[in-house]
Amino acid sequence: MEHPVALIVQKFGGSSVADAESVKRVAKRIAATRRAGNDVVVVVSAMGDTTDELLDLAQQVTPLPPQRELDILLTAGERISMSLLAMAINNLGVKAKSFTGQQAGVITDAVHGKARIVDVVPHRIRETVERGQVAIVAGFQGVTESTNDVTTLGRGGSDTTAVALAAGLGADVCEIYTDVDGVFTADPRIVPAARKIDRITYEEMLELAASGAKVLALRCVEYGRRYGVPIHVRSSFSGKEGTFVSGTTHPLGAPVAALAQPTDPSSSAVPEELVMEAPIISGVAHDRSEAKITVVGVPDVPGTAARIFEVVAGSGANIDMIVQNVSVARTGLTDISFTLPDGDGAAALSALSRIQEEIRFDSLQYDDQIGKLSLVGAGMKSHPGVSARLFGALRDAGINIEMISTSEIRISVVTRADDLDDAVRAVHSAFELDSDTDEAVVYGGTGR
Ligand code: ADP
Ligand code: ASP
Ligand code: MG
Repeated sequence: MEHPVALIVQKFGGSSVADAESVKRVAKRIAATRRAGNDVVVVVSAMGDTTDELLDLAQQVTPLPPQRELDILLTAGERISMSLLAMAINNLGVKAKSFTGQQAGVITDAVHGKARIVDVVPHRIRETVERGQVAIVAGFQGVTESTNDVTTLGRGGSDTTAVALAAGLGADVCEIYTDVDGVFTADPRIVPAARKIDRITYEEMLELAASGAKVLALRCVEYGRRYGVPIHVRSSFSGKEGTFVSGTTHPLGAPVAALAQPTDPSSSAVPEELVMEAPIISGVAHDRSEAKITVVGVPDVPGTAARIFEVVAGSGANIDMIVQNVSVARTGLTDISFTLPDGDGAAALSALSRIQEEIRFDSLQYDDQIGKLSLVGAGMKSHPGVSARLFGALRDAGINIEMISTSEIRISVVTRADDLDDAVRAVHSAFELDSDTDEAVVYGGTGR
């Protein structure tokens, strides 16, 4: 019986194509997939730390580069890797052609630096695949319909390109190849004892990604959930099966950690008491990319918070945690602190300083030496002991908590950036997520 041809979208991250040798290694993998009879569309990121290097270069020219120009600069990174990869695949005797985001029909809104994909019209990609050729698409970029300007999708955006193309083409699976064996209960770079999660739902993955687990970009998971694209996160350095992200939920109440263990077929996987008692913890995520702004000495009258956050939103910043406190300095005043991506810091500060007279606050403080740890799990809402256990773990590790926020399925704390790694390890152990068998492998990348 003949198998219908599968359409596979494969995305290779920067660490998988860090140098010419890696490009050739990845090309072999792609050629093998094609030779096995599959239709293949590839999405590729910029080589190694190219995007960071381009950002540094722009910073050396001007502290606030115009967003439109920055986008054009950054998309150059993916153009380098896409063409080299196409050359390497052709050299193996398999026909391949590369396309920019614009050529691939990735249409976005006009928000430079974090554009959203609004449509995918992949005519040229489909045509290429129908001719039996491999289509290579530059990740992380698109074009606006109205102005034809080139945009980027935000850091890690190649993941989103891949899932959006997979949805647009009706692919059977979107494989995200990276430098670790899948999604783990914590970043394996920090916690070598982290466990690989074999299967995870879109919802749990969304929460991990939103909390900083950069193995998958947040919008890629949102996109995958909306269009039901099965995502397989795996290593480009090994042949191991990775993590499947899909809409299938776990057996009711089963802790992820238990599912990640090899199951003994002779016994039922999760004992009944465990199902009822154990909090479901997906993992511990961390984020080093945020900063904290404190508006010091804000008059404690109605409307000031509204005005402050109107202005911050107007600067284009996405706010995360907010804390308001009665000021220690003087009565009748409050201090308002909030966190935001550090890339949005300069614009938010300058917008706020323009309303200093109007609001009559004392001063602004900026702190980019913070780290955020989040414990994520769908079951924690029914387990009141979870926060106490988390805070206890941090206390035992001698780590001070600066801010706390909670939701039904997540607890986040802000610490000093220098304490973050220790905090992640302490919390991971305290929730018994450490694997006592294998050590997680990090195959490449600089973790930048
Ligand atoms: P790529 O270049 O392939 O896009 P990224 O650096 O964006 O790779 O993402 C992979 C990295 O994500 C891993 O090397 C790892 O350090 C980090 N990471 C953070 N949290 C997790 C997690 N929970 N599971 C796996 N990797 C994680
Ligand atoms: N090259 C871009 C970045 O470094 C996009 C990506 O890698 O997904 O963020
Ligand atoms: Mg990435």
